[in-house]
Amino acid sequence: MTPPKPIKENPALSPREPPRTWNALSVSERFRSLYGSRKLLVATHREPVIVQPSTKGASPEGDSPKLRYPAGGVSQSLHRLLLQTGGDWVSLQSSPGPSSLDISIPGNPASYTLFRLSVENPYREEEYQRFSNDLLWPLFHEEPGRVGSRPGDFLGYEAVNRLFADHIARITHRHEIGVLWIHDYQLTLVAKELRALASGPLPPIAFFWHIPWPRQEFLAHIPERRTLLEGLLDYDFLGFQTALYRERFLESVAREFSGSSRINVSPRLVVKDGRRIHVGDYPIGVDPGRFETLSLDPKGQAEARAFLREHGIGPKERLLISVDRMDYTKGFLKRLQILDSFFRSFPEWIGKLRLLQIAPLTRSDHPTYQGYQRKVRDAVRTTNDRWKADDWFPVVSVERTVDHRILAPLYRMASGALVTSTNDGMNLVAKEYLAAQKDEGGILFLSRFTGAAQGLREAVLIDPYDPQTAAAIIHRALAEPLSIRTGRNKILREQISRNNIFQWMGSILTGVHATEQEKQEE
Ligand code: UDP
Repeated sequence: MTPPKPIKENPALSPREPPRTWNALSVSERFRSLYGSRKLLVATHREPVIVQPSTKGASPEGDSPKLRYPAGGVSQSLHRLLLQTGGDWVSLQSSPGPSSLDISIPGNPASYTLFRLSVENPYREEEYQRFSNDLLWPLFHEEPGRVGSRPGDFLGYEAVNRLFADHIARITHRHEIGVLWIHDYQLTLVAKELRALASGPLPPIAFFWHIPWPRQEFLAHIPERRTLLEGLLDYDFLGFQTALYRERFLESVAREFSGSSRINVSPRLVVKDGRRIHVGDYPIGVDPGRFETLSLDPKGQAEARAFLREHGIGPKERLLISVDRMDYTKGFLKRLQILDSFFRSFPEWIGKLRLLQIAPLTRSDHPTYQGYQRKVRDAVRTTNDRWKADDWFPVVSVERTVDHRILAPLYRMASGALVTSTNDGMNLVAKEYLAAQKDEGGILFLSRFTGAAQGLREAVLIDPYDPQTAAAIIHRALAEPLSIRTGRNKILREQISRNNIFQWMGSILTGVHATEQEKQEE
């Protein structure tokens, strides 16, 4: 085995920037100061807009489609950035309509073009989807038991990654590109394919890995793991949500390529065939100001009260809230076990505290998800039957997406948020809940298996695998004096204000620029 060569990291990329509070404007200013008139090109699996076909002549744009912007999240923040910087976005087309759309919003200085790829034979979209969702998703969340019985075909995955790269290569002449920024586990091979197509130098290519990076024994279930890892090492810049995931990724590289003299690994850098790849941890945040404002908006509050009424919840009731897509990684069954232990150990809460579970369905056409969702419904029914008293029952489960306009005031009204994920890259709901707690003492009960828990050490951490202890923690925290709860929230809210979504984008764009400078100086 070749002993690793010592490699020197770029000090500009390791220490964190001095604390400052980033906002939408400062990110776009930073982008311009670093990249001048060059543009940003973003690629994601999923589109940032929902395209609704419009009736001809019904809108001032004639028969151009109507666009809706899905509530919040990372893609909305990138969308806002592109409306400041200009550029392009490439993703798979998920609804009918044109193959490209110019996206602009009155009052924003720039616009961008959304290129909507449709996958046709011989690309085998179904295989690509299955490889991503039935193999990579469960294994990166350390759930080998959920791997599908026909978990897709790597050739389909490769082909769709190639389709993205072909398209990106075809449109990069439109502008001078400052950064190519590719996202998530469905697109690990885009840089590799782009390098194969390129005849000259490429702009820096950054990649952000949104989900957890697992322990090696779970990665070992993926036959194509070395190809995926090599693909990731074709990027110039790799971002992970937390230091733990970054360390595990580097360990995977070291383990899979041990003995290879082509690859050297150090804590924030991999050198592959003489090329330097920066590897960093950049926890995603939310836009806390937006959530705080929404949570205090009288119209939104009235809508939230109407929402509660509609679901039979009184205006003064004490609530715990949970907000998750109905995915097995979110720990729905564990949450119901915690609730069961809670009422069993502390019956004084029966009739006095309810769980409002907002649970939009996801992938409901898939047998694994259908089975899981059935189990969740059964468990809700059992819990409600067990603990109901007169016309009161403990769980109100709403299986639809609730808009941030209503969600933010609901967060504010709830005495606690119950996050029970068994494995979660970050969990933005935890941060949104805190943002909505201005001067309030709502408690964030946060699973220790979320990326968020790795940063928010002051939160009330729970272990979803230990329902009894979690129930006791909830009981104890609910009885704490207001001053303790607001004091804790003050610290947590300061953290999410500093590490907000704009800081995430700003520090990644700054880091990518530093890697580019480094290359030019070589
Ligand atoms: N969300 C929403 N309405 C809902 C459920 C979820 O707007 O009914 C949003 C939620 O506010 C958050 C995102 O969806 O911004 C979920 O992000 P998170 O990181 O918690 O989980 P993910 O779904 O990305 O795994």
